[in-house]
Amino acid sequence: MNHQTVTLEPGLYFVSTPIGTARDITLRALDILASADVLAAEDTRSLRRLMDIHGVPLRDRTVLAYHDHSGARAREKLLQALADGRSVAYASEAGTPLIADPGYDLSREAAAAGHMVTTAPGPSAVLAALTQAGLPTDTFLFCGFLPAAAGARRKRLEELRDVPATLVLYESPKRIAASVGDMVEVFGGARQAALCRELTKKFEEVRRGSLDEIEASLQSAAIKGEIVMVIDRERAERSTDDEIRAAIVKGMLEHSVKDTAEIVSNAYGIPRRKAYQMALELGKSEK
Ligand code: SAM
Repeated sequence: MNHQTVTLEPGLYFVSTPIGTARDITLRALDILASADVLAAEDTRSLRRLMDIHGVPLRDRTVLAYHDHSGARAREKLLQALADGRSVAYASEAGTPLIADPGYDLSREAAAAGHMVTTAPGPSAVLAALTQAGLPTDTFLFCGFLPAAAGARRKRLEELRDVPATLVLYESPKRIAASVGDMVEVFGGARQAALCRELTKKFEEVRRGSLDEIEASLQSAAIKGEIVMVIDRERAERSTDDEIRAAIVKGMLEHSVKDTAEIVSNAYGIPRRKAYQMALELGKSEK
């Protein structure tokens, strides 16, 4: 038996759960799940299954469903339990609550009401991906999911383009090809990145390389599973627009507008779209 029944102080306990391998859970998390007066979860079945795997008895407790959108009623119930001096453990479906997952409203209101809010920290796909990506971790920015709509997604990527930090993004397998395509356009294909998939699971995979290389790897076969993209910050010495224009003019002596844009985009680490626009304008003014 890996857990102990302990006496918990009244308060709200955010419990991190595994992002894949079920044994990635701390002993303290199991103790809290075994001992809390009230259990609540984003997905009640997942939490019950996890407790079952680890032999943590439910006893006479039920698992209450809670996510921030389940509304004020469900939150009121948990806040009332806290007001009654009980210990409440909350887990999201996988990983750490509040990290692209519910819990923020509950945390804010519990703290505002003067209750203890604490955590049993543990797995999160953000940190797992950063650990494996092979990119700097001195400063990183977690950006959650990109917007699903193409226009909003590009706008968000443009906002992120010059942030001096490693970027960490969650993405669905359905949208990853389109998102990486937009990243190539906005960040330039030379930017280093890592596509981290199915971390801690049987088919765990990390594709490290330039955005161009990752984009090419996505063209051969559809990709499945859960994905985190980690993207390096801008590295290229900023070339002046004059230098880039000169390279475009030279390139267009031998290549088409499209090929020149590609060559210059790779050489100077600028977005392909920007190189293409410049090449088109220079092409016009040359006539
Ligand atoms: N709270 C969770 C955490 O701490 O990582 C994240 C929840 S969010 C709703 C789910 C997303 O996290 C997935 O779509 C995927 O982008 C990422 N993710 C979760 N588990 C993962 C895994 N094992 N490998 C790669 N990405 C994962």
